[in-house]
Amino acid sequence: MRILITAGPTKEFIDPVRFISNSSTGFFGYEIARAARKKGHKVTLVSGPTHLIPPKDVKFISVMTALEMKSAVERIFPSTDCLVMTAAVADYRPERFFPDKIKKEGKDIFIKFKKNPDILFEAGRKKKGRILAGFAVETKDSIKNAKEKIERKNLDFIVTAALSERRSPFGDQKANFIVIDKNGAIERIFGRKAALSSIIVDKIEKIWYDYKRGKKA
Ligand code: C5P
Repeated sequence: MRILITAGPTKEFIDPVRFISNSSTGFFGYEIARAARKKGHKVTLVSGPTHLIPPKDVKFISVMTALEMKSAVERIFPSTDCLVMTAAVADYRPERFFPDKIKKEGKDIFIKFKKNPDILFEAGRKKKGRILAGFAVETKDSIKNAKEKIERKNLDFIVTAALSERRSPFGDQKANFIVIDKNGAIERIFGRKAALSSIIVDKIEKIWYDYKRGKKA
C-alpha cells in the first residue's frame, strides 16, 4: 500500500521567535511509519518540527505550519491508499506575523487568531475508497467525541488517548489508548506506541484487504 502519515505538532509563528504550538512529540507517527515500512508498504511521512530521526526508507517531508502540512498532504493524497493523520495540527494561527520581535515594554497585547483548515476533514470529502485514520487526545468524553469525529471527518477509525493527571499520552511511555472504528467497535489498549503501531498497521491492512475483496470499506 501507499501510506501517507503525518506526525508532530505544527508551529504557528507570531514573531521571529514566538509561536503557538502543542505538546505533540511526533513519536506515534514516526513509529507507525516505521511499522508500515517494515511490513513492506511505501511510506511518506509529513512531519512538523520534532527531535526525532525519520525512519529509514521512508519518504520524508518536513513542514512547519498547518498550511504547509495541508499543501504537502494535498499534493500526495491523490496517489495514496491510506492517510494516517497523527499530527497535532494547530487549530489556530496568528492573523498577522510581526516581522520584528515584539517588545515587552508596552501594555498588554492582543493577538487575533484565525482558524486553520482541518486537513483531515478536507481529505474526508475526497476520500474515494481510501482509508482514513485520525488521532485525538481528549480530556473528557473520549468515545463520544471520537464517534462524532469519525462521522464528521468520514474516517475508518480513530485512535484516542485520554489526557489524565496520572498518565500522559505524549512521548514514548506506556499509555491508554482506545481504537474506535466506523462500525462502532471499540478496542482498549494499554502499552507503548511502538507496540500499538504494528496493531494499527495490521488494522489498515485488514480494512484494505476487505475493501479490495469488494466489501464495504
Ligand atoms: O477535531 P480534532 O482536532 O480533535 O481531530 C483530530 C484529528 O484531526 C487528528 O487526526 C488531526 O491530525 C486532524 N486535524 C487536522 N487538521 C486540523 C485539526 C486536526 O487534520 N486543523
